[in-house]
Amino acid sequence: MKYAATETSRPLAVGAVIVCAGKGERCGLPYNKVLHRIGTKTTLEYVLDAFFDAHIHNITVVTSEQDKALISELVVCYDGVRIVTGGSTRKESVCNGLIATPCDIVVIHDGARPYVSPDLITRCIDSATTTGSGIAAVKCVNTIKRINEVGKVTSLQRSQLFETQTPQTFRYKDILDAYMRLDGEFTDDAEVYEKAGYNPVLVDGDYSNIKITTPRDLLPAAPIGCRIGVGFDVHRLEKGRKLILGGVKIDYPLGLVGHSDADVLVHAIMDALLSAADYPDIGVLFPDTDDGYLGANSIELLKRVVAMVEARNLSVAGISAVVAAQRPKLAPHIKNIRETLSSAIGIEDSRLNVSATTTEGLGIIGAGEAIAADAVCMLSETGKK
Ligand code: MG
Repeated sequence: MKYAATETSRPLAVGAVIVCAGKGERCGLPYNKVLHRIGTKTTLEYVLDAFFDAHIHNITVVTSEQDKALISELVVCYDGVRIVTGGSTRKESVCNGLIATPCDIVVIHDGARPYVSPDLITRCIDSATTTGSGIAAVKCVNTIKRINEVGKVTSLQRSQLFETQTPQTFRYKDILDAYMRLDGEFTDDAEVYEKAGYNPVLVDGDYSNIKITTPRDLLPAAPIGCRIGVGFDVHRLEKGRKLILGGVKIDYPLGLVGHSDADVLVHAIMDALLSAADYPDIGVLFPDTDDGYLGANSIELLKRVVAMVEARNLSVAGISAVVAAQRPKLAPHIKNIRETLSSAIGIEDSRLNVSATTTEGLGIIGAGEAIAADAVCMLSETGKK
């Protein structure tokens, strides 16, 4: 189980309905946008992570029959999350979700809003607990015009205008009553609640809590922060040492000299990761004066570095490295090196590239006396607090 339920001290039982019954058409995607990957996770995983971080586990994901199998696979590692089939309209889908999620306070959220924060979810719940509802909303940034039937344009008073988002949070019995009583089409849950005679309460939303709607919203780096790091290392070649590059032992009469296994490529990658995550470099973290690192397997150190990166709520989005060696020829080993490194880091092979070059006979590398490596990496902020 990837994510297990955690304790909370809330006085009322809270449930959540995540509406994922849409399609990807307006985004130009041939599949449901909640299945779209942004960085290392799908849109729906960002949402579920935020709800789990807000200690909500009574969660129903509403999806179409067509996407049920794929979404079931995705939520299997979230403890207790259930899936129900949506209807032909958003109203029917939300109703099906509500019926499957008995609780005191219910949070309704669009599966296509991946950047919702646990804080915003909690603010909405707190508002619903005290006032009956909590609707995430932000002040309109743009001036809104209304055009009447004869083309006359009127400017609306911007200070009175808000854009609603989700989460929209309600006392369960009230929103269920509103949905059961009213017929018609509604653009959000607050409208159903309002038309049933209740007065929705707005809560400060978040401008980064966008709903993925158009292809522009799919740009991975837009709302999620990226960090870039660079690392470099060089080691001397000598007889009597093993040659290990990227965790792969290479048959060669010479090997790299160092306190650890002297895996120059892994060292460059570790320094790139540490730099991007704002840690000291490997010389500080794993000093060559510490006998604990004598002969150390650099791949094991790399795994420790990745754990440190993840502890700062960052994930590895991509790595590119180049090894400079006059000899031996590295081309036959690159595939194995990529697989070994990506497996140690826990990313797909396609996110980690390694190339090799000579220095055209120049310098100590060209003389076959040393091997050097450069690496750059990109980390993405996972959004977890
Ligand atoms: Mg080194």
